[in-house]
Amino acid sequence: MNSFPVQIYDTTLRDGTQRSDVSLSLDDKLRIAQKLDDLGISFIEGGWPGSNPKDVEFFRRAADIEWRSALIAAFGATRHAHTPPEQDSNIQALLDARTPVCTVFGKTWDLHITEVLRTTLDENLRMVEESVAYLIAQGKRVIYDAEHFFDGYKADAAYALETLRAAARGGAETIVLCDTNGGSMPWEIVDAIRAVRGSVSTPLGIHTHNDSECAVANTLAAVREGAVQIQGTINGIGERCGNANLCAILPDLEIKMGLSCLPEGKLAQLYDLSHFVTEVANLTPNEHMAYVGRSAFAHKGGVHVHAIRRVNRSYNHIEPALVGNQMRVVVSELSGRANLLSKAEEYGVEISNGESVPQVLQDVKALESQGFSFEGAEASVIMMLKRQQPDYKPPFDLIDFSVIVEHRQGRGIFAEATVKVRVGGQVYHTAAEGNGPVDALDEALRKALTGNYPVMEHTHLVDYKVRILDSASGTAATTRVLIDTRYDDPSGLRSTRWSTVGASGNIIEASWQALQDAYEYALTTAVSNGNSEKAFETLSNPAD
Ligand SMILES: [Zn+2]
Repeated sequence: MNSFPVQIYDTTLRDGTQRSDVSLSLDDKLRIAQKLDDLGISFIEGGWPGSNPKDVEFFRRAADIEWRSALIAAFGATRHAHTPPEQDSNIQALLDARTPVCTVFGKTWDLHITEVLRTTLDENLRMVEESVAYLIAQGKRVIYDAEHFFDGYKADAAYALETLRAAARGGAETIVLCDTNGGSMPWEIVDAIRAVRGSVSTPLGIHTHNDSECAVANTLAAVREGAVQIQGTINGIGERCGNANLCAILPDLEIKMGLSCLPEGKLAQLYDLSHFVTEVANLTPNEHMAYVGRSAFAHKGGVHVHAIRRVNRSYNHIEPALVGNQMRVVVSELSGRANLLSKAEEYGVEISNGESVPQVLQDVKALESQGFSFEGAEASVIMMLKRQQPDYKPPFDLIDFSVIVEHRQGRGIFAEATVKVRVGGQVYHTAAEGNGPVDALDEALRKALTGNYPVMEHTHLVDYKVRILDSASGTAATTRVLIDTRYDDPSGLRSTRWSTVGASGNIIEASWQALQDAYEYALTTAVSNGNSEKAFETLSNPAD
């Protein structure tokens, strides 16, 4: 195993899955474990084998996998009161997991011992020491998690320290101080750790929760006080408000504190790992997460963008590539010239008409005041820039369209659209049916375009979002439509996704605007040349 000054112990698969809306299948857990191993995490806690059959199965499968860098740990409680370890179900479940490491948690806080477990303080000390010693005698490496350590220390410092000495006597290789309820402040962590260091010589670890938004701060404070093991989860997922977020802690340690905890170069995989876990856990990505959020290095204010075009680090605290992220410029009503120039460069739009940038800027501001929002709809901005260029020829012109929605007995509701468009001097008149008016309109437009543009066969509308603005006006309110479109490269190796926007008092018109931008973008950019890399976000194929 790698020896780093600070060991990272990941508990995404155990504590992380205690978040209320997260449920991971066995395969999900194995896939995440393999990614963590690939990142170079020192310990991966796979689950609590005593608590459910899925975790038992995880450890059965994990035992047959050759892990590159990580040691797999099973998590469980100390023995029950007045039960010898060799007859205790908690301890036997840990042994049955066949992992090199067992993490045993025990009680520190007198309240939990006398009121919840309903045993004596002395018996608790024996439970801690004997559980640790027994597992070590069975050939395990044992990490001791002191549950509620900081609350216990506040309630009865002498007894809390005594429980740690029991774990040390048992032979635990690391004693992890847990802020289980997540309410401690950084200075409280510091004071308690100083007392612990005067009491036990076993290496210390830290396990914090985020209930007072201090999980990361508390972890870093503990490291400065000498903690050498950090327990946390990817994206900070975990019970209630979450665990310490490793996606912030890893770069904090490596970049800000100069403490290496991953193999050389691995930190640059962090962005991908964070998004992988979000995807597998079926959560909405937090775009604003430090380091790994899509907007962690996004710049919107015109003054900022002007500055970063001159000096990159003027508004970035680190080089985004260090964590695998990238800088992004956002175009909105707050934008200046520099935002648009950056956008144009990013997407390879050549600005041959110098007047076009101020014109588009003015249009962006005017349209945003009418209800458009370009922040998430970069393809619509690109189309505005392109249409301003003197040599621009639109791939199609809409002459007119009509949509009818009908309800018929026996058939229910359906929609029919007809579209008249001019493509290359010829007029096409097509009709199509759909579930709803936008679906029918989309189908009819696709029919008209596909014959001339085979790229349309691989281009599909994938998401359609509607937002009602100024809802006080009721049905007369402005409707904003955001459409996500995807191009799947015929090789099957990559896909490209982009977003467009429309806004109008009429939802069909708003949808049409977004739809037109979406397909015009597809037909005039890198996508149409079969070179999707230059376009928006390149998503890796889930199969690879
Ligand atoms: Zn926890």
